[in-house]
Amino acid sequence: MNPIILDEIQFKPDFDALASVLRIRKDGKDEKRLMDLLDQSLSVAKPKGAYTESFVDEIENDYVTIDGVRLNGKLLPVNLKNVTRVFPYLATCGTELEEWSGGIEGIRERFWVDTIMMFALGSAIGEIDRHIEKNSNPGARSAMNPGSLEEWPIEEQQGLFRILGNSHSIIGVKLTESFMMSPLKSVSGIFFPSEHSYENCRLCRREKCPGRRAPFDASLREGFFNEPH
Ligand code: SF4
Repeated sequence: MNPIILDEIQFKPDFDALASVLRIRKDGKDEKRLMDLLDQSLSVAKPKGAYTESFVDEIENDYVTIDGVRLNGKLLPVNLKNVTRVFPYLATCGTELEEWSGGIEGIRERFWVDTIMMFALGSAIGEIDRHIEKNSNPGARSAMNPGSLEEWPIEEQQGLFRILGNSHSIIGVKLTESFMMSPLKSVSGIFFPSEHSYENCRLCRREKCPGRRAPFDASLREGFFNEPH
């Protein structure tokens, strides 16, 4: 199936939520400056996304094939056991926002702008998820991402990009030699049907990660990968 491109994604961040994440106090100089930066960003932001409805062809212990493309790693066979239909995706804050952010100076303001770009990326991921829900109605689902865990290494983004055809160039995302994405605030992954909400972070041992969304669960990891604590 041809990739579905979402390039008209609305970006309407909640200012209070942004200010709260950045711990900006109300009625101060910082609040005014953040409002100004957010206004600027809204005039350029074009978050984008792409996904395919794809099918699992083969599952072995340490790889799966999806639409004829082999994806290596022990995470996929566990998560895709008994699954046939999946939704590989690519989401980005967009090149427009990244270019604009290049003109912002100062460590503090660059951090604020980085957070605005994360919000834009979140809008893109949310829109992809809503589009899948509306058009394919797959039921409860979770997402996994290459590079979050060693059991699905970052190099495997190459396979995901192959499944997604030329959508990366349509939405302006490049994969570098070190398998990082440009714009940096981009993410690739697979939405898959899952009754039990799956979260990469629960299997990830990395300590003090600022992006952690759930506590590490050693027992869950042991069960997943058959390994001792
Ligand atoms: S803890 Fe951090 S590095 Fe580990 S999966 Fe979560 S966000 Fe990624």
